[in-house]
Amino acid sequence: MTISNLQTYNQSQHGISCEDIFPSARAIMTKLLDHNYKAYIVGGAVRDLLLGQHPKDFDIATDATPEQIKNIFQNKCRLIGRRFRLAHVYHNREMYEVATFRGVAQEGDRVINKGHILRDNVFGEIDQDAIRRDFTCNALYFDIENNNVLDFCGGFDDINKNKLQFIGEAPKRIVEDPVRMIRAIRFQAKLGLIMTDDLCQAIQNYHNTIETVSVARLFDELVKLFHCGNAFKAFELMNELNLFKHIFPQAIKAINGHKNNVTLIHNALKSTDSRIKQNKSVTPIFLFACFLWPLALEKSKKLQQKGSNQYEAMNKAANEVFAISRKQLAIPKIIQIGIRNIWLLQNRFNFTRGKKVFFTLDHQRFRAAYDFLLLRKHESIEIKELGDWWTNIQTLSKNKQRDMVFPNKKPSKKPPKKKAH
Ligand code: ATP
Ligand code: MG
Repeated sequence: MTISNLQTYNQSQHGISCEDIFPSARAIMTKLLDHNYKAYIVGGAVRDLLLGQHPKDFDIATDATPEQIKNIFQNKCRLIGRRFRLAHVYHNREMYEVATFRGVAQEGDRVINKGHILRDNVFGEIDQDAIRRDFTCNALYFDIENNNVLDFCGGFDDINKNKLQFIGEAPKRIVEDPVRMIRAIRFQAKLGLIMTDDLCQAIQNYHNTIETVSVARLFDELVKLFHCGNAFKAFELMNELNLFKHIFPQAIKAINGHKNNVTLIHNALKSTDSRIKQNKSVTPIFLFACFLWPLALEKSKKLQQKGSNQYEAMNKAANEVFAISRKQLAIPKIIQIGIRNIWLLQNRFNFTRGKKVFFTLDHQRFRAAYDFLLLRKHESIEIKELGDWWTNIQTLSKNKQRDMVFPNKKPSKKPPKKKAH
């Protein structure tokens, strides 16, 4: 595609009203404008509003440099990022990203290695900023002063045609920053925009470049992907476009090793999507526990064959799985602890007699582990029955629970109180 010239769309064409923009975002932009800088809402928010969706945040683009932004907002502003320096500006306890227009000049703080952008802190004009963005639909600017949408790359038309396309040549844009492949999948899954053929083809040709992305960034992108509200679709696309095998090489083999595993993952994705639709909380712990479970189970069974008990085997299997995954993905320690607890509780669910039942019920991760057990019900009739047992016990009073888990204990009878005469 060619980079088109500026197209300006007025309110009757774009249908966005200033009231659609969070008041704090407007206040930050007004302050920048008052200081004679330019300020626009950019990226996902403009795209989402054009698609009739509610943006989750509003990013701001300006010609003020990070230092100038800091000077204006003082202690309400923090400068962050090395790779891509920008300002976090706080207003009414909300945080907004304010980014300086990126430029195209060759000199300055930009580091590119084998086509891969390692750092980009060269500033420029708005039209240059637009073409450095990833997709045409993400390069739209909303001007609150005149109520216009500014479009330098044809994103407005593409949104109307449901088209997801890179600005510039797809292979080059992927090699510059391979995370853009996962972003493409997220926008297709979440917004229903359809990737152009050359974008799909470029992902097919360059999927292995995903391995060059930093393991921490990859984890963050995957969390965004699977919490986009259409994780099921996202998972299908990740598989179709061969990206998963680079991210979970061993886990994906274990998943594909048995249809029960595939069902587990599908159920977990559908359950995440439905929780998001109902505005319920979601945690990456749950989905990552599912993705890595078949591999953990495989390893735990082997360790049991070598003589470890169930608990020991699962604990060691968790260590092995995290060690393997570390090469591709930095799963934060706190998430690993949550995943390990969910897995260890799967064994504990087998104990339906004695005090252990109450330890399990009181466990901090009981809810997630129980949800996980229910997702496994298709594995065998025993697991289904176990799931039913744990569902039932939660509905009982403490006394009835005690009767159920200590069946041989006679119910304690307190002597009846003597009536006072
Ligand atoms: P959402 O907020 O719904 O996840 P978004 O498009 O706003 O989607 P952000 O990560 O908030 O995503 O990024 C804001 C904007 O910054 C994008 O719309 C895009 O213009 C630009 N951008 C983000 N990541 C990249 C990237 N890897 N390469 C080029 N431009 C990017
Ligand atoms: Mg955004």
